[in-house]
Amino acid sequence: MRFEGRIYRPPSEARSVLIQLTVGCSHNRCTFCAMYRDKSYRVRPLDDVFEDVDMAAVAVPNARRIFVCDGDALSAGVEAFAALCRHVGSRFPKLERISSYVNARDILKLSEDELRTLRALKFSLGYLGLESGGAHVLRSVHKGATPDNMVEMADKARRADIALSVIVLLGAGGRALSEDHMRGTIEVVNRMQPKFLSFLTAMIVPTTPLMTHMQEGQFEPLTDRAILQEARDMLGGLELTDTLFRMNHVSNLIALDGRLPGDKAILLSRLDSLIPRANEMISCVCTGAEGLML
Ligand code: SF4
Repeated sequence: MRFEGRIYRPPSEARSVLIQLTVGCSHNRCTFCAMYRDKSYRVRPLDDVFEDVDMAAVAVPNARRIFVCDGDALSAGVEAFAALCRHVGSRFPKLERISSYVNARDILKLSEDELRTLRALKFSLGYLGLESGGAHVLRSVHKGATPDNMVEMADKARRADIALSVIVLLGAGGRALSEDHMRGTIEVVNRMQPKFLSFLTAMIVPTTPLMTHMQEGQFEPLTDRAILQEARDMLGGLELTDTLFRMNHVSNLIALDGRLPGDKAILLSRLDSLIPRANEMISCVCTGAEGLML
């Protein structure tokens, strides 16, 4: 298998075969994101991608899960993505699931029939960087989608039986937009009812516009205590019927996970006991140029 540049995948895809269909991210404008700043976006030639699949099938013929890289592989177009899914299906007899990072724009431009076709080819899980449900926060981080776009794409994915793993970035609005972040995220996540939900912490990374905004005084990061309080307030407002919740990423100050709604009271009481002991330091500012593994 051949990879171009640094490769990112969700922690839960650690045992999946990774296949790179696109290089970089076609959007590449989110102010906090350093993942693909060093890559020029392009779609790889399908023949090369198929060769990678063939090599992987020789190395790990019994693989059950495939994760398609990079940041928004569906931007390659539905024909290319479906062709890849078909090729993967023909080479991995035990294939159970194909997944990738997704965004609202790519899902919304597909027809319901196209999504169902991808689902029939075992594309069954998308990792969505919601980041926030707050309209002002989404605008300020240049996400390229509104809260309503996010809900609409989740509805569309659900109708095609494609599950979403939704990522929220604690602290994404900084101090000024923390209220918008909290209230908007509660509303949007409740409307989405995702199968998986992760709270990560927005790390302020060198080379990103967010770092520049902070240095110029336009963005004030949250303290550790305020980040935990934001997590507590968001979690407290969530009314989810069946969601696996995780807050155990390397960016998080503490590790929590559980199933909602059953574990909600335990998770909240854990946060309530930790918040008074958290300090008022700001530890989300990085000195290294590493991006987040979402
Ligand atoms: S957060 Fe996602 S959509 Fe935004 S620039 Fe990074 S990879 Fe692209």
